[in-house]
Amino acid sequence: MGVEVVYITHPACLEHLAGSGHPERPERLRAFEAGINASGVSAKRLASEVAERKWIEAVHDAVYLDNLRDFSQTGGGIVDSDTWVDSSTWEAALRAAGAGGMALREGAEIALLGVRPPGHHALRRRAMGFCFLNNIAVATAEIRDRGEKVAIVDWDVHHGNGTQVAVADDPGTLYVSLHQSPFYPLTGLLSETGANGTTVNLPFPAGTGGDVYRQAFARLVGPIVRQFEPDYILISAGFDAHVDDPLADLSLDSADYGFMAKKVRQAAPSAPVIVFLEGGYDLAAIETSAAAMVRGLVDDWNEPTGVLRTSPPEAFTVVEEAEQIFSTFWRL
Ligand SMILES: [Zn+2]
Repeated sequence: MGVEVVYITHPACLEHLAGSGHPERPERLRAFEAGINASGVSAKRLASEVAERKWIEAVHDAVYLDNLRDFSQTGGGIVDSDTWVDSSTWEAALRAAGAGGMALREGAEIALLGVRPPGHHALRRRAMGFCFLNNIAVATAEIRDRGEKVAIVDWDVHHGNGTQVAVADDPGTLYVSLHQSPFYPLTGLLSETGANGTTVNLPFPAGTGGDVYRQAFARLVGPIVRQFEPDYILISAGFDAHVDDPLADLSLDSADYGFMAKKVRQAAPSAPVIVFLEGGYDLAAIETSAAAMVRGLVDDWNEPTGVLRTSPPEAFTVVEEAEQIFSTFWRL
């Protein structure tokens, strides 16, 4: 295939335990890795470095970071009802947040980051939704410091509230999120358009599947990413919009992740892609979806035939409303 692919992870990312019986568990990372292996695409494996404090502090307050470190190093405990810290959380979070910078230094065309804890809910001074450090926002800060433009595509089923807040005022960062709505964390409305239409939220009702996602990519995501002309594409790759996911109610199948990956790549073919593992709680769905995604990224994915998809009519309406709103900023 000739595409250079790296896989960046670290053993510490398997050690953080979010609590007994918690869905955000180490096996998720192993399923992601199994999917990469199953894709047939060979990837150079690297151990993630600890994130530089400078780039983490571009996204998070120093006091928050010190408190999180101290809390973890003294054994940890509960942050909110679904977010727990243990003695290995700080190290895991630093490795997860450092993987993006390492991908930049490595310079590969495609970098796949097998990291946890995930990041896209983490706010400047607050851990939430299984997230502590906003991994994708930390990498974005480093790229933006070079003056290069970043397109973030967040297809996790939850809105990436932390990421959006971190980049919404920056016209050099595009943030596109497709998510279930109304749903945790209850942010990510169509009306949130950021600086010059560089925040694009597509909030879909329960039951939305690949037919509507195809329309959304053809009419909005593809054209907007293309016109934005990013230097880098960063993907918040959650796999929890899959129909089998136990935490959410969207209806994507594994092949849809190949479709999305292919379309994102085609929208800016010369931009390196960095993929961050976010959510996804059905292990088989993570594995098969990640495999399709990797094939989509290297352009070795073909549309399956004979698939019946029946999204609710309101889901098509979201695409139409978004097209109206964003045609004031982009040629759609
Ligand atoms: Zn999620």
